[in-house]
Amino acid sequence: MTDAIGPALAAALSPTELGGVPVRNRIFVPGHTTNFAQDNLPTPRHVAYHRERARGGVGLIITEAVRVHPTSAGRHISLGCFDERSVPAFAAIADAVHAEGAALFAQIMHAGRQANGDATRTVAWSASPLPWNTGAHTPHAMGRKDLDTVVTAFGAAAARLRRAGVDGFEVHAGHGHLLQQFLSPATNQRSDSYGGPLANRMRLTHRVLEAVRTAAPDLPVGLRVSADEWLDGGLDPAQVVEIVGILREAHPLAYVHVSHSAYHGSWSLSTQMADMSFPHAPFRHHAALFRKALPGLPVLAVCRLDSLAEAAELIADGEADLVGLARPHIADPHLVRKTIEGRAHEIRTCLACNQGCISRVEQSLPISCLINPEVGAEREWLELAARPPARGGVLVVGGGPAGLEAALSAHRAGHEVTIAEAGPDLGGQIRIAARVPGRERLGLLVAELERDVRAAGVTVHTDHRVTASEVVAGDWADVVLATGSRPARRTLPGTGGPRVADLHESVALLDAGNPGGAVVVLDDDGGWAGASLAEAFAALGAEVHLVSPAAALSPRITTYSKLALTRRFADLHVRTHLMRKVVDTGPGRVTLLDPLGGTRSDLTGVALVVDAGIGLAEDTLYRALDDLPEGPRLHLAGDAHSPRSALEAVYEGRLAGSVLTSEKDPEPILLALSR
Ligand code: ADP
Repeated sequence: MTDAIGPALAAALSPTELGGVPVRNRIFVPGHTTNFAQDNLPTPRHVAYHRERARGGVGLIITEAVRVHPTSAGRHISLGCFDERSVPAFAAIADAVHAEGAALFAQIMHAGRQANGDATRTVAWSASPLPWNTGAHTPHAMGRKDLDTVVTAFGAAAARLRRAGVDGFEVHAGHGHLLQQFLSPATNQRSDSYGGPLANRMRLTHRVLEAVRTAAPDLPVGLRVSADEWLDGGLDPAQVVEIVGILREAHPLAYVHVSHSAYHGSWSLSTQMADMSFPHAPFRHHAALFRKALPGLPVLAVCRLDSLAEAAELIADGEADLVGLARPHIADPHLVRKTIEGRAHEIRTCLACNQGCISRVEQSLPISCLINPEVGAEREWLELAARPPARGGVLVVGGGPAGLEAALSAHRAGHEVTIAEAGPDLGGQIRIAARVPGRERLGLLVAELERDVRAAGVTVHTDHRVTASEVVAGDWADVVLATGSRPARRTLPGTGGPRVADLHESVALLDAGNPGGAVVVLDDDGGWAGASLAEAFAALGAEVHLVSPAAALSPRITTYSKLALTRRFADLHVRTHLMRKVVDTGPGRVTLLDPLGGTRSDLTGVALVVDAGIGLAEDTLYRALDDLPEGPRLHLAGDAHSPRSALEAVYEGRLAGSVLTSEKDPEPILLALSR
């Protein structure tokens, strides 16, 4: 099968140039934090990661933010360019990217007040002593010598990166970083020549652009901005257009990269990594505005542009010159190449779940991806894939994400694979989770896994519950047990209390509409299950109470998504009861205890209790087979191993299928991922 390329897509895939640098197509990978650095230096992991994306056909890669000065380092795992050691390390990335035909621009940045210096024992710098969020340290209001230091650092970093072989620069004046902290009246309260009127607030950005130009006069320099800060008294699109217009007159800007948001504990930050609760391309109007207002200045667009088709549409509609796909390239580094080669039907689509990428960034872990567990360990997985083909039949039990992924990777390794699923459909619990409004995009995971499993020719049995005796009779050498988990279903204290539904039943109940009374969601898990059901019942008009024993709301949801979730909760009047425990129930009543104060409170008029508690591994088959004195080699994957999320299920399925009969063990991959 070959997928046709229409005129819009052909235009998006046609060559162009940026500031005089040839770029083979109009798709780029925008800078995104990986946490792959060590001692703030690029590592072989960066090289393998970017090489894979360049090999995948993209035109331009922009590095993650390269911090120009140690006051911006924040953590040792963030990328910096502080001294000569960084030159060969960045050169390795540039060489790898160039060898695969893509261009490389370095994004250079100072994070200002957003640099959390706890790890590096540095003090955050800013225009004014205003912390970015509750709990953040108050930054040092920069003095004149500090400003000189930053300007010099931008120039020095540009000079080193130029010697490392990058093709151009992107000065980051968006996302609430230092330059934006000076540009914005919301964060700049200075009364010297760097504060007050716009010309003063722009002074630092002017000086930085000049310093970069002087350090690397032969390389193009683009500018990244936030079109809207969404902060009271902050910058709005009209003001940012004005700023870029002025800068453009004074400096030969190669392009403007139009992003949005500020680092701030509000909805603003959640827009930076707009998750699946946002519609497609929610901020394309910003890029369009800049393109119209600043003719002749190339515009780069970004954020939740989920596919090449969408990218092509923006270009065809004259809203952008180049289009950035960050998360789609994390999920599938080869999406451009597959399209060019007529294999678009093989592309794996980003879910915008934020679970493997930004969630792990927030936890100071290297990024991964729910769809693509090879992220961050590209070299190790490639080594594994390069071993001689495996042989023999493999049975995979369970057709959820873990089982489907295991079946695929075992097939790729050379096995004859059979997968058996007890239910009528493949997809496991994700298929159910994807029925909750706002979570539909999860369905892409199982739809595409099923597509690939069937295309691979794996033998698929549905409506087939595998028993231990069947496994033994089948004489399989290797069996992957991906039998998943059962949702929690507790018996609550008290008598005559409201109906208690488990997660699966609760999703089915959504179809019946408003349950006609309050809904209490017991969220002991702290993930999306409880939060998304609370939102869904509230959207049906029910009075919803989310009850959690934890001190923080939804602790397993990344802040970047949670800041949007809390706004939706507020709009829907979802009540939250944190650090509360159910101690009694009665007709239409749930009684909560505050374990600190010892006080009780009643929720009344309750029609339904949703138990979003901890699931139980469905490991009956595993226990039966494990008890046998002899039998097949057993490989547990996913929730059957321990109930967690699809992120772990996909990873464990891929790993299990890859190493079934291998001489090699998975140690290198496990070690790579734990670094
Ligand atoms: P995971 O996320 O780990 O893949 P899921 O719970 O989503 O787990 O999926 C597990 C799947 O395994 C479910 O679709 C379930 O019907 C199936 N399953 C459980 N036990 C058996 C069995 N004995 N035989 C076949 N399929 C099974």
